Amino acid sequence: MELQSEKKAQKPEKIRIGISTCLLGHKVRYDGNHSHDRYLTQTLGMFAEYVPVCPETECGMPVPREAVRLKGDPRAPRLETQKTQVDKTRMMEEWIPGRLKKLEKENLCGFIFKSKSPSSGLYRIRVYGDDGKVRKTGTGLFARAFTLHFPRIPVEEAGRLQDPGLREHFIEKIFFFQRWRRLVAGSKTPGGLVDFHTRNKLLILSHSQENYRKLGKLVARGRKLGMEPLFDQYESLLFRALNLKTTSKKNINVLLHIMGFFKKQLSPDEKQEMLSVIDQYREGYVPLVVPLTLINHYVRKYDQSWLKSQTYLNPHPFELKLRNYF
Ligand code: SF4
Repeated sequence: MELQSEKKAQKPEKIRIGISTCLLGHKVRYDGNHSHDRYLTQTLGMFAEYVPVCPETECGMPVPREAVRLKGDPRAPRLETQKTQVDKTRMMEEWIPGRLKKLEKENLCGFIFKSKSPSSGLYRIRVYGDDGKVRKTGTGLFARAFTLHFPRIPVEEAGRLQDPGLREHFIEKIFFFQRWRRLVAGSKTPGGLVDFHTRNKLLILSHSQENYRKLGKLVARGRKLGMEPLFDQYESLLFRALNLKTTSKKNINVLLHIMGFFKKQLSPDEKQEMLSVIDQYREGYVPLVVPLTLINHYVRKYDQSWLKSQTYLNPHPFELKLRNYF
């Protein structure tokens, strides 16, 4: 009972994520159907507050409707109905700026787009030539405008989130962005930034050693810069680091770094156990969650307060069952 109320008290504030409306199960697709994604509504949905956006219906197209596709110059394609070839570009382009303006107030920490859509798709969207043949691939009109308007908000396509590595990377970034948003929503102080940087050190290190060093130097000379340039430069470097994927090599480096904190406290047996679990992870016999579970156990056992504060050890809710793939 006590444990339940403790868990309830610790329940994190929901993370706000923009999403293509059809992924939530709403029947807004051209054929009157939806593209419901249960992982997004049921699993990630436990922690997310979604802000749905359907560019085609919101800009005034009916349901059902004739399917559209991208056509013409791959750098600036038109949006055209597939059979009757009616140009819908203007309709979409007139709607986009107002919607982006409204989204500025939504405090989004990420956006999940529906793949393969000429309006919402992020990657490899077919652009047809006037002869009806695929000339190149590009980005859906709304997705492109969104990423240009919000270059630092993490974005991904729902289809790609089925890949465990891409899913983990995206989810880590959105929860990171949520922590960052909380920090910058308050008053910006060098002390606040130092505290943020300290708690996220190992997580940043697991993405990029080089940017980890640069961020450390930036924070150290922070007081000499004004608050705005300091936070802006930090944010830019931070998200450059986070956009680089972690690898088992980078994670092993962090795990060994963590072990250094226990040098004097671990018994020879415990040290051996930890090294052999890290080795099993290196060899691909166990996923990252295994050495991390052991480390979390020792962090509690030896009351390691600096490590306890490290987001690397618990970067997202454990119910999402991440870090458990090979
Ligand atoms: S892919 Fe985008 S435009 Fe198409 S139905 Fe889904 S939300 Fe609407």
